[in-house]
Amino acid sequence: MKRILVTGGAGFLGSNLCKRLIKEGNHVICVDNLYTGRMVNVEELMDNPEFEFINHNIIEPLDIDNLDEIYNLACPASPPHYQKSPTYTTKTCVLGILNMLELATKNNAKIMQFSTSEVYGDPFVHPQVETYRGNVNPIGIRSCYDEGKRVAETLCFDYNREFGTRIKVIRIFNTYGPMMDPKDGRVVSNFIIQALKGEDITIYGDGSQTRSFCYVDDLIEGIVRMMASREDFLGPVNLGNPGEFTIRELAEIVLEMVDTKSKLVCMDLPKDDPTQRKPDITVAGRELNGWAPKISLREGLVPTIEYFKKTI
Ligand code: NAD
Ligand code: UDP
Repeated sequence: MKRILVTGGAGFLGSNLCKRLIKEGNHVICVDNLYTGRMVNVEELMDNPEFEFINHNIIEPLDIDNLDEIYNLACPASPPHYQKSPTYTTKTCVLGILNMLELATKNNAKIMQFSTSEVYGDPFVHPQVETYRGNVNPIGIRSCYDEGKRVAETLCFDYNREFGTRIKVIRIFNTYGPMMDPKDGRVVSNFIIQALKGEDITIYGDGSQTRSFCYVDDLIEGIVRMMASREDFLGPVNLGNPGEFTIRELAEIVLEMVDTKSKLVCMDLPKDDPTQRKPDITVAGRELNGWAPKISLREGLVPTIEYFKKTI
């Protein structure tokens, strides 16, 4: 049995990860300040003696002993949430990973940083390969997140080079599924909820921008394989589903799958919104025992729509 720390464990990805780690027989310590996370996401784990919840802000140092692994997820992830207090977001990314790297180094634990496709910014290279260095605006409204995550990656690699800290870095592309917060403003949750309520489906811009959507179970499988990968494979590795859709296509698929009177409406495109995004997952396939997503967008939307029906 491993002792595993999951920061951001009450959020969308974190709660799905905690459940998987508990199922595999580990002791899981979930650290979360509930900034965007919700206790309801981990409710089913609260009576399990192998699950502990600590309400803590990772901007502040944390001292825990005998850790084998740390998964660092804590950070608001949807644009409305990370832009609400940009300085909080940057502090969480930078001071948060510093505190977690100190903890990992002290424990000689492996630490995984949850980075993002946003480190590629509005990319000129398509699909995005890990060697692409990105096109990020350092002073825009998305920069608190993009640059925060980029510095977090830098700190991971510098701790590895300077102190021998055991690191793993993953770059996650848009992921969806059960336990998403209905109010966090991401495109998949917005469109499904709008369709379920019969409200207008809000396409930002003309809907020609693309994203690649990964179902959460596929992502969690990649994450677990990455933590177990050979010690000298540090990443960064892209994890996502290479199936690429325009936002208008996504809206049309949701309309087709939910019985609704909703109509598509176009609204202003937020500043610096990336025009295209699709992961090249060659490295993940090679290093993570042939990992590739198995669940198509239409398949993954079925349980996601069911979850939102029950939630709202
Ligand atoms: P989420 O908002 O559901 O979860 C983030 C969690 O972190 C929440 O539970 C929140 O309360 C907690 N948190 C925020 N600030 C904190 C702080 N200072 N101290 C302690 N806890 C704090 O988002 P998510 O989609 O589950 O994302 C999890 C991680 O994965 C994030 O780091 C995000 O950047 C990364 N990621 C997610 C996606 C995606 O599509 N979901 C894509 C790329 C990267
Ligand atoms: N988007 C949209 N309508 C919404 C929410 C988002 O058209 O109600 C667009 C958004 O402008 C972006 C894409 O959908 O082009 C994905 O947005 P999301 O916030 O889910 O993720 P990110 O921009 O971080 O990839």
